[in-house]
Amino acid sequence: MRITIDRDRCIGSGQCVMTAPGVFTQDDDAVVALVPGHEDGAADPRVHDVPLVCPVQAVAIFED
Ligand code: SF4
Repeated sequence: MRITIDRDRCIGSGQCVMTAPGVFTQDDDAVVALVPGHEDGAADPRVHDVPLVCPVQAVAIFED
């Protein structure tokens, strides 16, 4: 699995963090970031729901 985030598109709504807090976090400006060490998404099974809940399509998941 590969996760991409578009920090320029992110509006800081936090839906990704509420859905999969093991993988997503927000920086001091509320912009999305991946939790260090968990960039592969394996830390949270709900990671697959995140592209659906992000209101601006800033998150994409690609299955290898
Ligand atoms: S859900 Fe989308 S817009 Fe909201 S913080 Fe996460 S990436 Fe940014």
